Amino acid sequence: MLVMKNINKIFQTADIQTHALRDFNLTVNEGDFISVTGPSGSGKTTFLNIAGLLETFTDGEFTLDGQDVASLNDNGRSRMRNEKIGFVFQSFNLIPDLNLFDNVDVPLRYRGFNAKERKARIEANLERVGLSSRMKHLPSQLSGGQQQRVAIARALATDPRFLLADEPTGNLDSEMAQGVMSLLEDINKQGTTIIMVTHDAELAQRASRTIQVKDGRVSELEIVSKKAIA
Ligand code: ADP
Ligand code: MG
Repeated sequence: MLVMKNINKIFQTADIQTHALRDFNLTVNEGDFISVTGPSGSGKTTFLNIAGLLETFTDGEFTLDGQDVASLNDNGRSRMRNEKIGFVFQSFNLIPDLNLFDNVDVPLRYRGFNAKERKARIEANLERVGLSSRMKHLPSQLSGGQQQRVAIARALATDPRFLLADEPTGNLDSEMAQGVMSLLEDINKQGTTIIMVTHDAELAQRASRTIQVKDGRVSELEIVSKKAIA
């Protein structure tokens, strides 16, 4: 479970101060599929990066699985991120000169799994995203939708509790976007908690909960979709 209470984030550059999150409050429960919408610059990526322990916050309370995140040092945050969080980005962020197998291997090597365990996890996760027949292909030999599937396999390979996705369909045409969304829905059904930032209102509505961020706050409108009630 992820709980944020009155989180503030102020970016300080040479001459500008940006208050990116203002008293941001959110509770994410085990098994949720949360979509996050809101105007450009409203703080969606900042929220996701803090939730995924990629970014620190200025003040407020953030507990992740009962752990007070503010009390962790850099190492503690990295360790927790590697154990609990998988990230998917709009631009896929695959390593261009590594084949699919080796791309999915990157976080597994980092975690120090042995070769046999890594191979099993790579194969299982490429299979899960429907790309087990392409393990020796390079990212450039795949469509955008397939590249995003590889990025999802890479994010899942370490078996994270939380999958955080920042506009995962933003670079895809609508057919590929549908495919990636269906895959995320399957992954959520299999137990992974998902938080997805998206500009696509239709995809956002398919989540079990939709929140809107405006000016660094979770907007008053917190819509619980019909699907969650049913
Ligand atoms: P969104 O993802 O909703 O478009 P962001 O979270 O990226 O919004 O940005 C929120 C605000 O914080 C914006 O005003 C942005 O310019 C600012 N911001 C984001 N990252 C940084 C940074 N690293 N340094 C300074 N300002 C930043
Ligand atoms: Mg963003």
